[in-house]
Amino acid sequence: TQQFEQKTIRSSCPYCGVGCGVDITTTNGIPSAVVGSPNHPANLGRLCVKGSNLIETIDHDGRLLHPMIDGKQVDWPQATQHVAEKFSQIIDEFGPDSVAFYVSGQILTEDYYIANKLMKGFIGSANIDTNSRLCMSSAVAGYKRAFGSDTVPCSYEDLDHTELLVLVGSNAAWTHPVLFQRMEKAKLANPNVKIIVIDPRRSATAELADAHLPLKAGSDVALFNGLLHYLIQNDAIDNQYINAHCEGWATTAKAVASSDLTTTALLCDLTEQELEQFYQLFAQSKSSVTFYSQGVNQSSQGVDKCNAIINCHLATGKIGKLGSGPFSITGQPNAMGGREVGGLANMLAAHMNIEDKTHRDLVQEFWQSPTICQKSGAKAVDLFDKINSGEIKAVWIMATNPLVSMPNRNVVEQALKKCEFVVVSDCMEKNDTLTYADVKLPATTWGEKDGTVTNSERRISRQTGLMAAPGEAKHDWQIIRDVAHKMGFTEHFNYQHSADIFKEHARLSGYKNGTDGYAVRDFDISALSQLSLNEYNRLTPIQWPVNSTYPNGRQHIFDDGKFYTPSQKAQFINVVAQLPQQIPNVEYPFILNSGRLRDQWHTMSRTGKSAALAKNVKEPFLFIRPEEAEKLGLTKSDLVKVASPYGEVILPLQFDKGLQTGNLFAPIHWSQLTAPTANIAKCFGSFVDPISGQPECKFTVVKVEKY
Ligand code: SF4
Repeated sequence: TQQFEQKTIRSSCPYCGVGCGVDITTTNGIPSAVVGSPNHPANLGRLCVKGSNLIETIDHDGRLLHPMIDGKQVDWPQATQHVAEKFSQIIDEFGPDSVAFYVSGQILTEDYYIANKLMKGFIGSANIDTNSRLCMSSAVAGYKRAFGSDTVPCSYEDLDHTELLVLVGSNAAWTHPVLFQRMEKAKLANPNVKIIVIDPRRSATAELADAHLPLKAGSDVALFNGLLHYLIQNDAIDNQYINAHCEGWATTAKAVASSDLTTTALLCDLTEQELEQFYQLFAQSKSSVTFYSQGVNQSSQGVDKCNAIINCHLATGKIGKLGSGPFSITGQPNAMGGREVGGLANMLAAHMNIEDKTHRDLVQEFWQSPTICQKSGAKAVDLFDKINSGEIKAVWIMATNPLVSMPNRNVVEQALKKCEFVVVSDCMEKNDTLTYADVKLPATTWGEKDGTVTNSERRISRQTGLMAAPGEAKHDWQIIRDVAHKMGFTEHFNYQHSADIFKEHARLSGYKNGTDGYAVRDFDISALSQLSLNEYNRLTPIQWPVNSTYPNGRQHIFDDGKFYTPSQKAQFINVVAQLPQQIPNVEYPFILNSGRLRDQWHTMSRTGKSAALAKNVKEPFLFIRPEEAEKLGLTKSDLVKVASPYGEVILPLQFDKGLQTGNLFAPIHWSQLTAPTANIAKCFGSFVDPISGQPECKFTVVKVEKY
């Protein structure tokens, strides 16, 4: 008789920034069932449809199994030697800024740490950026301007306790479904809880709302400046909090003096009544969470939008308390982990700053590295532009498919065609980006990798290896380590397990980080630096900081009213509403918005494998209001050409009455590989926020015609 050996292994879901815990049953070493971990604080046993169908998405079909150079299979020593030699040769000839890494919020913190260490401390450039630039870099810059640190002040538990939940630029029902379930539960438990959804499109999330504010696309700064004005006019300001804990109030208060209801209503295309209803609720509620996501961040004024929101929370003291705070929600499972290790071109490790010499010296001293980057590197859009101009000659892309996800596909494609040396580490054998790889390196993926991720509420959880990797696939950290060795950096990359890297990362976070129990830097997990391998493997999900003052983590970082600015006071930031970079015109009369579907993830290389996940939406589409389709002589399911000044796609038409007149929506998931004419990223230009460098992926002007 056949023997069945079953085990239950704890891990976390890779399909969004909620970071749900999952309990995986393996049968004879093969994952066979998944349930939500009942004790994981992110989900308390819940899963959404993507998490529930996780097992269907992890088979080995289509996996990249062997290292390849110029289309020929090679062994690992040959592949890593070749990558190391080419990178070293280009660096020797053209300097450290002639090479770049483009990484991903899909890789684990340990992978991110070692990639960042190699680029910033050993190659000596800050040319390492990540697809998280497309996700939340505006939120990072907004927090840093206000708090002096990239600190998310909230926890998911705040959603259970707030009186007023304001969702801005977030379709949580589709993009963060388990948090949306939590909101539904909170509302059911207490019908007095008010929910306001602010979004140009009436999305599925608006169904839960007491009010939906269909503001004009891009007018968020005006809306929140209007709120601040209303709070001042209606004596709803917490002067005591402002005086004790904030700076810059007088200037900011003066700057919003003209943002009265009439002016704001005009700027946002809302009625004064709609505005007043929201403003009154914010003024009267004792607690408020503003929950914001890509609709705020992916904008040419994304950072200002974040600060306009934060200003209102500071002005009312609604921060650092249960049920209150400006809460940026990340898209990817490990966007936060990437921030923590400094895996962005304008950050150093452990939330330190490249511009700060003390920080550069400290990191270099800790790493005992021969060099350290002296200035910020190229952010995503800039990075591919620099490849195009020949300034960057070699790029190593890890676990991401920029040809499909970056705006202005034509520019990115041209860059990869031109680039002297392109290395791609990926778990899949084929994707749009791999087409241009000189070297393909097979990487492990979820279920095979061991390491940590940090979710949107700063909670560090384990992802666990459940099964053997197929073919010769290796972990990203192993591949980077092996290349580092062959570049001559052996003793500083002497890691045998992801735990070695995690402990070093934890040690660095606490290195010279204040005395007397007060950390001068927010990100400090030094209490985790002594974990045994067993403790690392069994790590209980925990919210940072985790140090001698907060050995069990900390739920609300600013509960003591101390911020990480030199004065320890939060900063009001004076922000002025601006129009998006493009305006609809006679040639391009529509505004195209883009976003995710509930049942798919990124470019569908894994979720696209699941029949259950493909059931509801089988093909890409363009949403339009029915009467606008009629005006154009179009009917449902017609194939239409959608063209912007940057590129065009062909999509079947679907109707959505939730759109505003003149607005369209299309999902982001399809690539050249899965639907050759439907990669919507082609239509978006290279407009970025001037501070964060985050591209404006929610707004481009287009025209529509029958195909
Ligand atoms: Fe996974 Fe996100 Fe769904 Fe949770 S909400 S199960 S993390 S996709």
